[in-house]
Amino acid sequence: MIKPVYRKSVQRQKIYEFIKGSFDHPSAMSIYETLREKLPALSLGTVYRNLAILVEQGLVTRMPFKNGFDRFDANTLAHHHLICEKCGNVEDITLPALAEIDKIAARSNEFKILRHRIEFYGICRKCGSLED
Ligand code: ZN
Ligand code: MN
Repeated sequence: MIKPVYRKSVQRQKIYEFIKGSFDHPSAMSIYETLREKLPALSLGTVYRNLAILVEQGLVTRMPFKNGFDRFDANTLAHHHLICEKCGNVEDITLPALAEIDKIAARSNEFKILRHRIEFYGICRKCGSLED
């Protein structure tokens, strides 16, 4: 399949830079709300369209979330996520000890592993401990 070539777009560049510079894995809505101050011509539809292109280009990963509020990540290095069930905060965590997990999974089920994704659900520091 021939990949379409997209014209360079200032809006898309700004969206990419915003995701890259924020560590909270923003949703399309929060990207839109932050950037529309600087880019008055921006619409939510434009944000969605450009996010789809960035995902296709491999620059950004889409994290499917419940209720359709997908989050976006410009950190393309192997890492995992801690997800707060109270505030929805998504934090990066790198677990080098899990580098072998692909081999183990491939061995046990005769499956060619291309990638894996691990999410830990719980309560973040800001929201307090489970005992509270
Ligand atoms: Zn939280
Ligand atoms: Mn991440």
